[in-house]
Amino acid sequence: MSNRYDDVAYELPDFGKGVLRALESAGYEAWVVGGWVRDALRGAPSHDVDVTTSAHWQDAERVLSAAGYEVHRTGTAHGTITAVADGEPVEVTTYRVEGDYSDHRHPDEVRFVDDIRLDLARRDFTVNAIAYHPERGILDPFDGRGDLRRGVIRAVGDPRRRFEEDALRVLRAVRFACRLGFDIEPATQRALVECADGLDDIASERIGQEMDAMVRTGRIGWALMAEPEVLGVAIPELRAMRGFDQRSPYHVYDVLEHTAHVCRAVEEFTGGMASPELRWAALLHDVAKPVTFTVGPDGRGHFFGHPKVGAPMCEKIMRRLALPSDLVASTRTLVRLHDHYVKPTMRSVRRTLLKFDNACPGRAEALTFALLDLKRADAVSKVWSAASYAVELDKVTLVLRKAIAEHEVFRMGDLAVSGRDVMEATGIDPGPGVGMILRELLLSVVNGDLPNDREVLLRSLRP
Ligand code: ATP
Ligand code: MG
Repeated sequence: MSNRYDDVAYELPDFGKGVLRALESAGYEAWVVGGWVRDALRGAPSHDVDVTTSAHWQDAERVLSAAGYEVHRTGTAHGTITAVADGEPVEVTTYRVEGDYSDHRHPDEVRFVDDIRLDLARRDFTVNAIAYHPERGILDPFDGRGDLRRGVIRAVGDPRRRFEEDALRVLRAVRFACRLGFDIEPATQRALVECADGLDDIASERIGQEMDAMVRTGRIGWALMAEPEVLGVAIPELRAMRGFDQRSPYHVYDVLEHTAHVCRAVEEFTGGMASPELRWAALLHDVAKPVTFTVGPDGRGHFFGHPKVGAPMCEKIMRRLALPSDLVASTRTLVRLHDHYVKPTMRSVRRTLLKFDNACPGRAEALTFALLDLKRADAVSKVWSAASYAVELDKVTLVLRKAIAEHEVFRMGDLAVSGRDVMEATGIDPGPGVGMILRELLLSVVNGDLPNDREVLLRSLRP
């Protein structure tokens, strides 16, 4: 029986085979490389198929167009085109090596070569530098399969040089370690720390893409503890959290360790299915603790207002990383509300739903569930005695389910009166005043001061 990782666990899809066949029948050589091979060896399906070939992109374009593929010039400066067959895109790149990287970002030149081994040698990690062909099998000059078996991320060649060439690889290493649940090989790890500062030369949106992908693996809690230096360059605000003694009877961990626990706990409470905003909020919920720290007369540490200060900090960080604005808004609101006391009462739950609906229209239910998971995770990451709040939060979750099932009122659209009703009842003209009155009415209903009854609401408007 063959060992796991010796061969791909499933067949190359037909659209990939077709691209290889078209190029090879025209006399070129072609292999599948990168993520598809890595993941197929691990038995993890559904990854984009990337092809590398001896054909120059102009020739690949000609051959693949003639074979009926729709071809797009997606990166011809680097020798890349994309061939689309049956709606499935395949990236096809010419074998290449890279010249010097004087700026830690862009190679000064890209040189096309005719030996795939040279192409594999310019790739970042051994597990990403394996080629596969349905007839010729596996080509693995850097023992990427051994590293898959051992569960390590190892740079191809001299790690320090590779990270100096392109500092983005520093984050890629951590991202792949998170994604695969791997360790980082010791020499690669040393070089990571030595070269992390090179990330300062990388465009912040590219850092953002890597960080977002890392957060979305659900293992950012591991990365915080294993790679604090690297993450501290990517997001400098994290640095102050490291080793920050909370001087509080409620906390057994420093701010960074506490945060790492919360990141892990949100995965436990969601079965590893935490939403991106919940993951980001777990990472950033206490980001303002260092700047809001005060010591009381009894010598205890306090962080008054840290959610309020943390929300704009979180927004600033995520905007700098060019993350999508709906993700920023929902994360910011979770950070803002993470210490908001939610009680297992319908009124308290409606009030929370209203806050989310105001900040992130249309997403209130999902974000309230996320908030409860964040609060649960926070509660179990302090001292033991604080964990009992998690039990109360379970009751809140039951009330939230009931609120949703019973269509409790928390949106403007749920109100039994409309803007037109308000204008008729009060005689005021269309304009912002109408919205203000509607918001007041909604708040009264959410607070339980008035029933959601048209007659009662209208009566309340008359002098
Ligand atoms: P993912 O699932 O994240 O897409 P992937 O392995 O396909 O994983 P890509 O970023 O799509 O990663 O890159 C495809 C391949 O190109 C990688 O497997 C690697 O061989 C190579 N590569 C990508 N970026 C770099 C880089 N910065 N330095 C060296 N090689 C790289
Ligand atoms: Mg890819």
